[in-house]
Amino acid sequence: MTEKTLAIIKPDAVKKKVAGRIIQRIEDEGFRIARMEMLRPARELAEGFYAVHKSKPFFGSLTEFMSSGEIVVMLLERDDAVAHWRAVMGATDPALAAPGTIRHAFGFSIERNAVHGSDGPDTAAWEIDYFFKNKT
Ligand code: UDP
Ligand code: MG
Repeated sequence: MTEKTLAIIKPDAVKKKVAGRIIQRIEDEGFRIARMEMLRPARELAEGFYAVHKSKPFFGSLTEFMSSGEIVVMLLERDDAVAHWRAVMGATDPALAAPGTIRHAFGFSIERNAVHGSDGPDTAAWEIDYFFKNKT
């Protein structure tokens, strides 16, 4: 069944000029890009997006990083979109990500790991609403 997920190309990957290669991979994996926007998120927008991680030690650094440059936010559609996009991204820590995954290819550190993906259908619905509310 067709499912939706939210993908983000993070500032490290945009700065490295690999956004195009990541978008090509998304299309090669059979996703439909239903919405796409490039923006530089304000610190508050990044903090709201990662509110679930507010108590973590990496929250301050993560939200500073996410608002340090432009990101590409995409609404992706595909069968099993959430799990498939997470498989294509690879493990959170690029050092542990399998060869062939985006984080293995383009991630720099556990923080600067090139891409984001929703971790479940409910999270995806919340994240899609967070970025694309009143725009779809
Ligand atoms: N992160 C970090 N340090 C950590 C764990 C995570 O900086 O020890 C960052 C990293 O950018 C990650 C994001 O916080 O992508 C969200 O963490 P999560 O555990 O949800 O990983 P993800 O779902 O992105 O794989
Ligand atoms: Mg997560």
